[in-house]
Amino acid sequence: MKRDAPRQTRLRLDTPVTYLKGVGPARAEALKRLGILTAGDLLYHIPHRYEDASTIASIASLEPGMQGTVVGRVISKGVLPTRKGLRIFQAVLKDDTGMIEVSWPGQPFLDRTIAKDDVLLVTGSVRFFHGRQLQPREFVNLGDEDNALAEGLVLSVYPATEGLSFKVIRGIIDAHLDELLSLVTEYLPADVLRTATLPSIADALRMVHRPTSLGEAMEGRARLAFEELLFVQLLQQRAKALAREVRRGIRFENRRQLTTRLREALPFTLTGAQSRVLREIFADMCSDRRMQRLLQGDVGSGKTIVALFSALLAMENGFQAAIMAPTELLAEQHARSMTRLLEPLGIAPILVTGGLKAKERREVAARLADPEPALVVGTHALVQEATSFARLGLAVVDEQHRFGVEQRKALGAKGEAPDVLLMTATPIPRSLALTLYGDLDLSILDERPPGRLPVTTALRPESARDRVLQFIDRELEKGRQAYVVYPVIEESEKSDLKAATTMYEILAEGAFQSRRVALLHGRIPGEERDAIMRRFRDGEIDVLVATTVIEVGIDVANATVMLVEHPERFGLSQLHQLRGRVGRGAEASYCILLGDVSPETKQRLDVFVGSDDGFVIAREDLRLRGMGDLFGERQSGVATFRVADPIRDELLNESARDAADRLLAADPELESPANAPIRRVLGERYARSLELFRVG
Ligand code: ADP
Ligand code: MG
Repeated sequence: MKRDAPRQTRLRLDTPVTYLKGVGPARAEALKRLGILTAGDLLYHIPHRYEDASTIASIASLEPGMQGTVVGRVISKGVLPTRKGLRIFQAVLKDDTGMIEVSWPGQPFLDRTIAKDDVLLVTGSVRFFHGRQLQPREFVNLGDEDNALAEGLVLSVYPATEGLSFKVIRGIIDAHLDELLSLVTEYLPADVLRTATLPSIADALRMVHRPTSLGEAMEGRARLAFEELLFVQLLQQRAKALAREVRRGIRFENRRQLTTRLREALPFTLTGAQSRVLREIFADMCSDRRMQRLLQGDVGSGKTIVALFSALLAMENGFQAAIMAPTELLAEQHARSMTRLLEPLGIAPILVTGGLKAKERREVAARLADPEPALVVGTHALVQEATSFARLGLAVVDEQHRFGVEQRKALGAKGEAPDVLLMTATPIPRSLALTLYGDLDLSILDERPPGRLPVTTALRPESARDRVLQFIDRELEKGRQAYVVYPVIEESEKSDLKAATTMYEILAEGAFQSRRVALLHGRIPGEERDAIMRRFRDGEIDVLVATTVIEVGIDVANATVMLVEHPERFGLSQLHQLRGRVGRGAEASYCILLGDVSPETKQRLDVFVGSDDGFVIAREDLRLRGMGDLFGERQSGVATFRVADPIRDELLNESARDAADRLLAADPELESPANAPIRRVLGERYARSLELFRVG
């Protein structure tokens, strides 16, 4: 077939990759999977890591339990079948110091792409399995270039995709790099770069693609991370400023009626942090601006009472207040505790869940249609169309990270511009919160109510299993209750993970045979699940064997022990959330992690064992695992980064925030000619900038 378009002679950044030498239709298709459509995209396809002589270990030095990167020549290879039908590709690598076996389970197709005598760079962990064996996390086929690294070169490793190896990508980029770099013009103001001591964009791109040293690669990367952080900050800050302008809200008045009466009736005094946070919230609610505030507080820091005071402020102004929780059980729990606290005030919360009978639902609907002050507590049933409020003044979303973006928004969309308070126990450092939720205001509960005993936490090896189970049984003997947590529901062919279902049977017939044991996991229908939790709450179950479904907000003061199996499978923040289920009463409580883990995992878990501060733990989690785990699909409202990592790049993030502050203070709409290049790039990269800056 003949091409209609003439081949462009001059390359431009927006030239489709198909016009590049070396890129045919198949490669173009593969590049598209990597998000690369134009020559400019290719230029911004940044290596995700680098190797040089200093990062390569000798094969002889690898020991079981270690992570390492080696370069070696394939001296033999082949595909092995296993009993379970899984096919494993294996190769033996050799360097000047020795040999090691590398094994890729389930990837027999590698036999076609890896040839004998190829030189591979492999990163992975070493284990002992009929000798030392390397389990690759990532590998690069260097082909026959075995001398490159030895000669002091830095190897740029690019994100690759099936059908397009790292080497081909590197070749295409390298072939066009000089020409492409000559097309790039700087878009950040010179003084911004100077203040942050960062290289120009053309220099930075050269440094990341073709570094002469690792240090240079990092310098180039820093500039690219910085600009990403800067752009997100500009968008967030602009969104916040615009929202301030347009966000007319209800102006409540602090009448000190209901709120003062609750304060007097409370069986405890508020912590300093609770009082401070309430001042921040009340200031928002009493201004004519609409509140959009995120309240962050570690598990057990007492967020519910903060929500309750805020609700009373709305009510004493004649408005309705709604508090939405992610599960029926949690909504019920809130309704109960609030009923108790509000009894002296003569207020009874209205509970709205999916489980209401038709008659109850009609009664509730009638109450909400009446513009009288009311406190409504419920599940997502609150945001369903059928539920409408005559006079909603405050919308609170508890455990907001458990809701999707749409549901979160939907509650605030009820009534006429109610003030919105989002609450979360996923503790993230302030700098990160400001980056991720830049258009919300932030309040932090960083103090726990006094008198709480810390939860004694320990990591125990498999060999201690019997003793651990006996220990738990003694707690049960005293009348306490226990949680046993597993990462998965059922055992599968592929893994030897202990699963909740199997272990439930083993424990119920073995160690805890004289106890009442129940099983709880996400595949049990919601109603039944709630019924089991209710029985546990009411002391009718002694041991709850569960998956992480128990993570959210459940408050059973008599539960004093938690046993977590396969602790290596959990993130530290997740473990911290789980641990928050015990230590809620006056009794000493325990959280025991049980299992044989690798030395690295132990190091990670030790952070959790040694700290009960959710912020410290989250920071470590983020440092070790990046943001992906904390911000999965549910957090789709959150800004994402390609190069930057707001935690690991915390200092860059701070200087990016300062730079954004200064830019917007001088030119709030970025409309001066000097800022035209920034506006252009914002417009190209972020759809959201269109509504915020009128770019384009
Ligand atoms: P979370 O922030 O995890 O949602 P809760 O609001 O459920 O925490 O509070 C945990 C427990 O602490 C509840 O039993 C609550 O009554 C209690 N509590 C809250 N504030 C205080 C306080 N200032 N002093 C003593 N106990 C408090
Ligand atoms: Mg809570």
